Amino acid sequence: MKAKVLLIYTGGTIGMINDPKTGALSAFDFRYLLDQIPELNRMNADISVVSFDKPLDSSEILPADWKKMAETVISNYELYDGFVILHGSDTMAYSASALSFMLQGITKPVIFTGSQLPIGTIRTDGKENLITAVEIAAAKNPDGSAVIQEAAIYFEYSLYRGNRTSKVSANHFEAFKSPNYPELAVAGVQISYQNNQPKPEKELHFFTDLDNHVALLKIFPGINFELYKNLFNYPEVKGIVIETFGSGNGPSNSQLSRYLIDFIGKGGVVINITQCLSGNVEQGKYEASNIFKKAGVLGGADLTAEAAITKLMYAIARFDNSKQVSAFMQKNICGEMSV
Ligand code: ASP
Repeated sequence: MKAKVLLIYTGGTIGMINDPKTGALSAFDFRYLLDQIPELNRMNADISVVSFDKPLDSSEILPADWKKMAETVISNYELYDGFVILHGSDTMAYSASALSFMLQGITKPVIFTGSQLPIGTIRTDGKENLITAVEIAAAKNPDGSAVIQEAAIYFEYSLYRGNRTSKVSANHFEAFKSPNYPELAVAGVQISYQNNQPKPEKELHFFTDLDNHVALLKIFPGINFELYKNLFNYPEVKGIVIETFGSGNGPSNSQLSRYLIDFIGKGGVVINITQCLSGNVEQGKYEASNIFKKAGVLGGADLTAEAAITKLMYAIARFDNSKQVSAFMQKNICGEMSV
């Protein structure tokens, strides 16, 4: 029996062509994309396609689009063995993270892929990415269960856990990295699936609302906190991801300390993640992180910025009070953090 795979086309470079007037790349019709890859008809999978009415450059993606992607998966969950989401690479790590929280406990693959060069160009990376992503979405264990049972990103011969991934290169084919978690699979002559730590055991739980009253503050030496006064304006802002130095350190600035204490005192949630590409936050390791610990800032361990932001949007939408949001933020929900 051929596996049934649903291809969800949202846009991205893979399906773009040059606008003859401006010379810029813009998203194009999905039929054009399919015409470029006749190999899809020869695969050992039954492929159906749905497309966003207006394909998007992924810079335009909003939480409403994540909801649309997740709901397309949910409404077709029983009908298909796996899902491939064609998406621009720029914000793919955010979308894959968001869907990992929205689709908790799935036992089927949701594989994001795209490309750095449009499918119509001779050296495109899009063909290999799409064909292998479909193969992964169709892959089954001998007992019939899916090999991959989560939201993941396939790009340039590697399959990554979606909520562990960041885009690291604007022009290399190897555009993604998962610095704090090993690849789920590597594609060579064969696709070699790794024996990863499983995600936490979970019941299937779909929840697709997000609240975007969240902010991201990246600190730097000499930062003028006066300029960020409005950022700590609860309840306009309900949650803040703060990107700190090294293992969660920052300047011992009294204004920042006051802002944090007031914001958290009123019910805001602040989570500390590192600016480093790899490694984790450990508040209390250095004196320089005590400003956060004392104010009640949560340690974000090794969360990527993409996972931290989408997890916070999800938690604020789902829970009524900051205690529940904080408890959720510190738990490993779907393999996004090592705790
Ligand atoms: N700007 C494009 C997008 O994210 C880049 C890509 O697809 O790789 O939609």
